[in-house]
Amino acid sequence: MLIKNISVLYGSDLKYLSSVDVRVSGQYFKQIRKSLRVASKEECYDCEGFLMIPGFVNAHTHIGDSLAKDLGLELDAEQRIHPISGLKHRILSTSKPSHLVDFMRNACVSMIRKGITTFIDFREGGIDGINLIQKAIRHVPIRPVILGRLEYYQDKRSVKQNVPLPKSKRIELQQLLRKCDGLGISGSNENSDSVLRYYSKFKKIKAIHSAETNQSCKTSKKLTNRTETHRCLLLRPNFLVHMTHASRRDLQLAAKNKISIVVCPRANASLAEGIPDVSLMIKAGCNVTIGTDNVMFNSPDMFRELDYLWKVSMGMKKSRIDPKTILKMATVNAGKLLRNKKLGMIQENTLADCIIIDKRTIDLAPMHNPYASIVHRASENAIKAVIIGGKIAHGTI
Ligand SMILES: [Zn+2]
Repeated sequence: MLIKNISVLYGSDLKYLSSVDVRVSGQYFKQIRKSLRVASKEECYDCEGFLMIPGFVNAHTHIGDSLAKDLGLELDAEQRIHPISGLKHRILSTSKPSHLVDFMRNACVSMIRKGITTFIDFREGGIDGINLIQKAIRHVPIRPVILGRLEYYQDKRSVKQNVPLPKSKRIELQQLLRKCDGLGISGSNENSDSVLRYYSKFKKIKAIHSAETNQSCKTSKKLTNRTETHRCLLLRPNFLVHMTHASRRDLQLAAKNKISIVVCPRANASLAEGIPDVSLMIKAGCNVTIGTDNVMFNSPDMFRELDYLWKVSMGMKKSRIDPKTILKMATVNAGKLLRNKKLGMIQENTLADCIIIDKRTIDLAPMHNPYASIVHRASENAIKAVIIGGKIAHGTI
């Protein structure tokens, strides 16, 4: 496929190229430069007036609760999403599996329409939970990263007494990891040091919620005399989710250990749990990415997430942030988080995952700053097409 005369946000610095030709071959971008000649029998599209940007990576979701949209608005975070006692757990465990699958599939279709080409999901429900999400995405062309978990949560006494993972669960864990991309752990307060260390031995992707609420931070201190983040590091995670209440020291610890962070600002705000301090995270040297978290209480829309994060961060700190920095969090930085050099940017030999934006749409024209345009003006209405793995997954060009 040859896409001619298109503007591109190119490479790891999202450099704006005003008009180039892009050749896609198989799953990859092959050539990006001016005046490429169309080969015989090659599909060729003139895309004058369009802008190609990397597909968004939604770095943290729980699409499993898509059927529980806006239930329990009156409850606090613990009451809504605690893995044992929360409303979400009760709803998921009593819902018909076919309903769960239908609404998970809808969430994936919705994400593609909004330019999300990869999503990283924390999938509850053990092996059964993984089977359900795999069924949901079977015919949906999105790129999934599925992080499963055992339905095994320790009480406070077991955490204090450092109870190890039972043998039966160790066997189940092996089976689970064969079916997914890694582990998405609910938090350190439900797992002893021994269990976290056991999980840490596996080579697949590991991630964990950390410092999401004031309450979870206090619980960790009270239970173990250590910060939640400090204990989460026992997992040797690839990334920590939230860090909304992390101290400067905890952020420095994450940066030093090359552990990425996923912030979920709209989800935190909708639970009335604060706003992550991305300026402080960047200052500490962290690789910051963005996720939309639970569909139950937040829409899986990265355009809205970018806009919200940009404005609320500048408003809170009374200092400016370059919109390109925010856009990188949804693209380039997520490739770094997954340690996948072929994901998250448009460059020769990277995966051909991208969004084609119509620059002439009334919401965007005239586009004087493409980064600001994407971060706070664009919506799914501005999308002409979404390409995933070299194929048009949504729209037309
Ligand atoms: Zn989460």
